[in-house]
Amino acid sequence: MSFSVHGLAVSRGIAIGRAVIVASSRIDVAHYFVQTEQVDGEIERLRHARNEVAAEILKVQQSLHDLGPSDAHPELTALLDVHLMLLQDEQLTNGVKHWIVERHYNAEWALTTQLEVIARQFDEMEDPYLRERKADLEQVVERILRVMRGVTSPVGVGQPRPGQDSAVDVPLVLIAHDLSPADMLQFKQSVFAGFVTDVGGKTSHTAIVARSMDIPAVVGARSASQLIEQDDWVIIDGDAGVVVIDPSPILLAEYGFKQRQGEVERERLSRLKNTPAVTLDGQKIELLANIEQPEDAVGALKAGAVGVGLFRSEFLFMGRNGKLPDEEEQYQAYKRAVEGMQGLPVTIRTVDVGADKPLDRVAQRAGEDHLNPALGLRAIRWSLADPAMFLAQLRAILRAAAHGPVHLLIPMLAHASEIRQTLALVHRAREQLEAAGVRQGVVKLGAMIEVPAAALTIPLFLKHFDFLSIGTNDLIQYTLAIDRADEAVSHLYDPVHPAVLHLLANTIAQCHEQGKGVSVCGEMAGDVAMTRLLLGLGLRSFSMHPSQILAVKQQILRCDTTRLQTWAQTVLAAEDPAALMTD
Ligand code: PEP
Ligand code: MG
Repeated sequence: MSFSVHGLAVSRGIAIGRAVIVASSRIDVAHYFVQTEQVDGEIERLRHARNEVAAEILKVQQSLHDLGPSDAHPELTALLDVHLMLLQDEQLTNGVKHWIVERHYNAEWALTTQLEVIARQFDEMEDPYLRERKADLEQVVERILRVMRGVTSPVGVGQPRPGQDSAVDVPLVLIAHDLSPADMLQFKQSVFAGFVTDVGGKTSHTAIVARSMDIPAVVGARSASQLIEQDDWVIIDGDAGVVVIDPSPILLAEYGFKQRQGEVERERLSRLKNTPAVTLDGQKIELLANIEQPEDAVGALKAGAVGVGLFRSEFLFMGRNGKLPDEEEQYQAYKRAVEGMQGLPVTIRTVDVGADKPLDRVAQRAGEDHLNPALGLRAIRWSLADPAMFLAQLRAILRAAAHGPVHLLIPMLAHASEIRQTLALVHRAREQLEAAGVRQGVVKLGAMIEVPAAALTIPLFLKHFDFLSIGTNDLIQYTLAIDRADEAVSHLYDPVHPAVLHLLANTIAQCHEQGKGVSVCGEMAGDVAMTRLLLGLGLRSFSMHPSQILAVKQQILRCDTTRLQTWAQTVLAAEDPAALMTD
């Protein structure tokens, strides 16, 4: 019977597909489709790994046996018997075969999918002894996966690939309790048509990456991953934040129609690509792109962006098991982004890890999970705590600037002392390159305004920086004391709270007075419901994911900024600005 769960709408559109439930701990298993002729090879790879694990277990059993009955640990022997039994379990082997043969999943994906199916059955068992066998099954599967890691698929393990085989033409949607931003990045070129997670806020970084993929997504759907079962038909309504499970034929037809309407709308918007973003009263508006990887430059150009307003460089640093990219690797990545933008400016933000962007999946430092990482060692604080690492990044950016226009952007500054230290390190990086005779370019220096303390001391920032970029995601989080990643307080995350609007208006006005550039690069910039207000507050530069550019441009083309300016002042003075937003 069909039922629905509600969450937060984070990425537009409708996706209809079969559910793939993934536990986040197993997320770094590759997900890709194999060709029909590769199906037997995948099954063989799995059989080989299973036999190898069985041989390992038998070897341990033999050595226990050799120790003699008095030394052999009876519990261990019994456990090994259970593991051997699970290895041969028909539900596991037949299930895995099913996913490979019927769905063309690669072996690792098939194995973890079947694990989820059986694990749920264990969870529902009354008998605590049997329930505990779930942990054994997980151990056995992890052992098989470890062995398979050494035996790569002929298709190329590690790179999720879109399906190319008509037999696997069923769209798939991914359902997980949680996905880290690094996990999401891994799925960027993947097979999934949509995402649902139980946790997360609208501007959590997981949601941001989902938005950059331009596929429907719902976060904060509470217990969706528990309620939905592997292979269920699911509709994700990314506009309304609704997930429909096991939809009736009528619902399927209704959402299928909406989906086609969305496609027609996209097609219509694509015609605006080469239209200049100019308002009815002739104001030129700069539309820039937010990117996470150098390769995203292609999408930015395709959407008609006139530059990159925010390259979130931290995505180069994530999911690498603590091994950070060195100067050379970073330089190559930044250079690729700069060259990819073909002479248009690229704003590279120095690393902003911490909070909901941990370097690795283990989100927090051991023993510190009582702390709120959003208030901790994050962004520029993290960089200043490790000057050698920071200098390497600064040198890499300065070197990339020799290949095209680059702006250097510093996140989360709040203190004059941080500004001084940062500028001193930029200066030192320049000197180091000069001394080594390494080519570097000239960069414009910018600061992000994302902490109220910064928004209230704009003259200090304007004294030291060439331009400012307002990070509304964090500015809202810190002004309203709302964790942006916590769905439990997402109803209080209010971009038009009077306090937020005053900080925004003040920052934009002071930049204009001093003749300095100012843009907004938070999610607010790509939200069409906010375009008129931001224009009315005087904003002329917006940075957003490429997929949002054309819709925002459409709004801009219909606006008259002189009229909006008066209206924005009324909104700014209102007790409840949200009530005036549709005027
Ligand atoms: C912001 O805070 O608005 C911003 C653009 O930075 P991030 O979302 O990466 O924290
Ligand atoms: Mg931020």
